[in-house]
Amino acid sequence: MRTVLASPPFPVETARVKIELINTGSELLLGRVLNTHQQWLCRRLSDLGYSVDRQVAVPDTGADIQQGVREALGRADLVIVTGGLGPTSDDITRDLIAQLLGKKLILDKAVFAEIKRFFAERKRPMPANNDVQAMVPEGATVLPNPFGTAPGLAIPVSPNPYRPGGPKAWLVMLPGPPRELRPMFDATVRPLVLREFPLAEAFVCRTLRTSGVGESALQERVAPPLAALVAAGLEIGYCARVGQVDVRLIARGPNAAQVVSDAEVVVQRLLGEFVYGFDDDDMAGVIVRLLTSKQQTLALAESCTGGHIANQITNVSGASAVFPGAYVTYSNAAKQSNLGVKAETLAAHGAVSAEVAREMAEGARVRLGADYALAVTGIAGPTGGTREKPVGTVFIALTSATGTEVQQKLNAYEREAFKQVTTQQALEMLRRKLVG
Ligand code: ATP
Repeated sequence: MRTVLASPPFPVETARVKIELINTGSELLLGRVLNTHQQWLCRRLSDLGYSVDRQVAVPDTGADIQQGVREALGRADLVIVTGGLGPTSDDITRDLIAQLLGKKLILDKAVFAEIKRFFAERKRPMPANNDVQAMVPEGATVLPNPFGTAPGLAIPVSPNPYRPGGPKAWLVMLPGPPRELRPMFDATVRPLVLREFPLAEAFVCRTLRTSGVGESALQERVAPPLAALVAAGLEIGYCARVGQVDVRLIARGPNAAQVVSDAEVVVQRLLGEFVYGFDDDDMAGVIVRLLTSKQQTLALAESCTGGHIANQITNVSGASAVFPGAYVTYSNAAKQSNLGVKAETLAAHGAVSAEVAREMAEGARVRLGADYALAVTGIAGPTGGTREKPVGTVFIALTSATGTEVQQKLNAYEREAFKQVTTQQALEMLRRKLVG
């Protein structure tokens, strides 16, 4: 992933809030868990107009966590600490921070009742050690956790012992599991940040998500026509990710909304056909939304993607209304028995061919009674390529009542990226059909 900022820097805000992020967890430093909190929280904050000044990951030891928090409070107005709020012996963040700030831990009856309710609802006995999660440092605000037992905590640090004479700081503690941290941030930390650290000026950020056009080609098309708006304060960010490029339009100040809206009109005019969504949209979500609005359905027949397209579709809430199912047919025999691909077609053209992709899609559509079917067959590699069909060759077929079309692609990436790009291309093919 690469982000290029293509504009002069903004005027430096005089009183810009300084934010530091501390991710706790030895598993992060052992490379066992990818630190997605770092990316997710930085992105959320930057979309709100704030930037994170520093981020550090520290092991689960008392000394490391306390040293990290002490140093961060010596510089920052807002310190966000993630992980270590659970009930196990390595979950010590709450105690260490209370100790560091000289705050007593007090049993919060409402939190305790909430934890008891959580277990009762799931008909599970509440382990004795879970009550430590109801211990709240005095003066802290409890951030409810609808998806787990460990509440988050927000502590005002005033006076800040590590920045004598400095402004009031906030220390926010969030639970480790992403499914708990993310909704908690949106519901409680976001409003706290906006309330406690109002931006010096209006901030507007709009992301247009594109598929099917490369980063350089995209930049070449939009940068010159946007030059006048850049001079008026527009910042353009291009962020290339597997199979797609995001265009981020940002402006600050009294004209921010107008500048971003004018820029969006220009980008839509030049790139509209490639723009599949906005801000937090993802391709599978857009497809499910489009199919839902048309009351139509999609079936899948996957070979080289091994179910990745079905996985993406079923990650979207509401997918059941538009997705009857998928066949994962890896072998020739499975393609024949499950989808009705003909032995002659396989013999004449090989499993990785436009003809087989077509028969896979048509077979899936009929068998699952869907309006559309997508099929993919390809060579993920690293072995199995030939001169005519090198590693990365993929055929994607889309069929509907009006006929079948097949596209050939060359996605010469490692296997995981190969699946992601192929999935994006297949869904993009359907998206174009759905939007006409
Ligand atoms: P729990 O109640 O589950 O113990 P916790 O608040 O104590 O929650 P941790 O024990 O630190 O959190 O982490 C729980 C799990 O959350 C980890 O095993 C990991 O899978 C995930 N996790 C923690 N930190 C991160 C991170 N920075 N990025 C992504 N996932 C994380």
